[in-house]
Parts: sequence; C-alpha cells; structure tokens
Amino acid sequence: MISVSEAQNSIFKSVSSSKQETILISKSSGFVLSKSIFCPLDLPPFDQSAMDGYAIKTEDILNATKIRIAGESSAGKSFTKKIKRGQAIRIFTGAEIPAGADAVVMQEKISVKADQLFIADENIFPGLNIRKKGSHIKKGTLAISKGTILTPAAIGLLASMGLKIIPVFKKPAVAIIVTGNELQKPGTKLSRGKIYESNAVTLESALKQSGTENLKTFFAKDNEQQTKNIFKKSLKGYDFILFSGGISVGDYDFVGTVLRKEKVKEVFYKVKQKPGKPLYFGTKNKKYIFGLPGNPASVLTCFYEYVLPAIKKYSGNINCLPATISVTLNKSIQKKKGLTHFIRAFTDFKTVNPLDGQESNNMHSYASANCLIVIPEETELISPGEHVDIHLL
Ligand code: AMP
Ligand code: MG
Repeated sequence: MISVSEAQNSIFKSVSSSKQETILISKSSGFVLSKSIFCPLDLPPFDQSAMDGYAIKTEDILNATKIRIAGESSAGKSFTKKIKRGQAIRIFTGAEIPAGADAVVMQEKISVKADQLFIADENIFPGLNIRKKGSHIKKGTLAISKGTILTPAAIGLLASMGLKIIPVFKKPAVAIIVTGNELQKPGTKLSRGKIYESNAVTLESALKQSGTENLKTFFAKDNEQQTKNIFKKSLKGYDFILFSGGISVGDYDFVGTVLRKEKVKEVFYKVKQKPGKPLYFGTKNKKYIFGLPGNPASVLTCFYEYVLPAIKKYSGNINCLPATISVTLNKSIQKKKGLTHFIRAFTDFKTVNPLDGQESNNMHSYASANCLIVIPEETELISPGEHVDIHLL
C-alpha cells in the first residue's frame, strides 16, 4: 500500500496535459490557456479621460491665459483637431484626449461664463485625470501566461485586447461505469435487498461542477463479460474511465480481473487512507482508469483527492491539488496510526467542526460538509484548539 502523497504524485507523473484546441472566447470559461498571450495593442489604446470635465493645456493656467471652450470629445466620438493655446474641450469619461491637451479638470471644479472657463482647482499638472495609452499593458508585452485558468476577469482582459478565438487545453471526455447487482434506479419502488443507485449522479454532478461537459454513464451488472464489453467500448471514446464499485476482492468484484485481462498498466492499487482504501489507478494508451471503491463517501472523497487533480492536470492546470487552508479544530479527533483520514467537516474558514457519521457509506454527513479535514497517517490524537489542514470542497 502506498501513501496518499505517493498516490497523488504517481498520478501526476502518469497524466500528461491534453492536446490544444482553439475555442471561442465566449465558451472558454474554466478552460486553461495553452499559449501565453502577448498584447496585440496598447491598453488603453489611446489617451483617455478618466473624468467628465474639460481637457485643457496646463500652460494656459501657468500663463493665466483666458480659456474658451472650442468643442467636445465624448466616448466613441473624438474631437479630431489639435487644440490651440487658450482652448479647452468639453470631455467625458472614456473619450479620447484631443491632441494639444495635457490634463483634464473635473467638471465639479470649473464654472463657465459666456464661453469662458474658470477653474477652481489649484492642483493641476500635466497628466491629471488622463489614462495614458499603454499604461496598463504595452503592445507586444506578456498579458496572460500559459497555464492561467480562464476566469471571468481573464476572459474580460482577452476580450479587451480584441481577441475572439483563443488557444486552450482540451478538456477530457469522461466515462463512468457503475457496477453492482444491488443497485436500483431512483424513481422506482425499492425491491428487497436492493439500494438506490446514487454514485452516478454524484460523480456526474462533481464532474459538471469541475467544468467537464463531455461525460457519459454506463451501468454494468457484477458480471465479467458485461463489465469487459462496456470497458472496451469506453476505451474507444473517452479519456478518463471511472469505475464505481467492484474493485475489491469479493466474489462479485470483476473490475480488477477485467483491467488485468485487458492489459491496463496498474499504477497503484490500495492507498493508506480512510475512506477509499481499495482505490485503483491504471493507464492504457494515454487513457486513465480509476477504480473507485463503491461506498458513496469513498467514491466522492477519491474523486476530490485523485480524480479531480488528474483531470486538472490533463486540462493544463498548474495547481491541481485541493485548495488547502489551516484552521483551528473545535472538537478532538482520535484515530489509529497507519492511514490518512479524510474527515467530512464544516468550516467557517477560521475553525472547523468534524461532523458525526464518518462511515464510508454515510452520505448524510457529506451532504452538509464543505471541507475535508486531513489527518496524517501517523497522527493519533488532535485536541481542540490545535491547527489542522482542511481541503475545501
Ligand atoms: P463495492 O465497492 O462494489 O464492493 O461496493 C461497496 C458498497 O458500496 C456496497 O455496500 C455497495 O452496495 C455500495 N455501492 C456500490 N455502488 C453503489 C452505487 N452506485 N450507489 C450506491 N451505493 C453503492
Ligand atoms: Mg459491488
């Protein structure tokens, strides 16, 4: 058995970033930029007014020249002539500064009498209230680096540079294969000895939340032939294959047998953790295969700790592990040495409360959790007031 960090590291070693594609900027939310973008123009593209007011020549103030209003420049409609000594231009926020002007006086600081401008502002200097051309980003300089996640702000910046199509890393196609004879679809009357199947929607929701749109779920009975057929079909069309259940060594667990017979290269099987000890990870022809132990809390924890980091790496992200912060524990936690524990908990981002019901088939606690407390392998007791690392969900 390997440790949690060994398992995560071997996943990162195995998974390479996907191919690149170009997509419309309007569809790029959550994708990762696959090439650095150099600004194709100066931003702002011209000297702009930062205020509603009057564009003036500061030398007119020094020389006490009479100033008269000679025209207007509004956003999108520039005053195209050069202003001369003794001239000012009515100007609005975002409008181009006319040639010859070197400052903008706020309209609150002036009065106009018969076309003549009187200024009640002592602090006037060249550049006042002017957003200089190229002051944010100069043409040809690095605007956004490869590996940046396309957040609303990053997308807005790319649009302000006039870009419509951008290069990104592809997102994976993901197949979920749910195994189990005991599983019955929600919406039907539960038969004796059966349970409702819940891992499919859990994984689908988690994938969609992470921005994976291309996904499909298959269902297999605990039957070697059927499991094999679905797996072989999935290998053709999907980059990631996530098995739910059937990875242990009971008489009805066939996932391991199928993966061995289909020559999947095992990277690891079993991790020193709770929940989710019998986790499997393997590869075949640049396809990545996870065997997630079927208990619902194990499935979801293994998704957050291993599957999601792997998908992030594939999708070109630089930071792939769960977001971690250190907070104060409110209630003591006791465990045996030997396994890392992921404990469902609720945090206010300063302190954290472990929740009751940590069994690996108990989703009641998970449903109200917003983090997992990570208790290292060798720790046996943590008391209230001590700091613990939590992974935010
Ligand atoms: P397995 O890993 O197949 O041995 O399953 C472990 C436990 O998780 C068993 O109690 C299963 O009934 C349960 N389980 C497996 N798959 C699902 C599923 N898709 N939805 C709900 N529970 C499941
Ligand atoms: Mg099973």
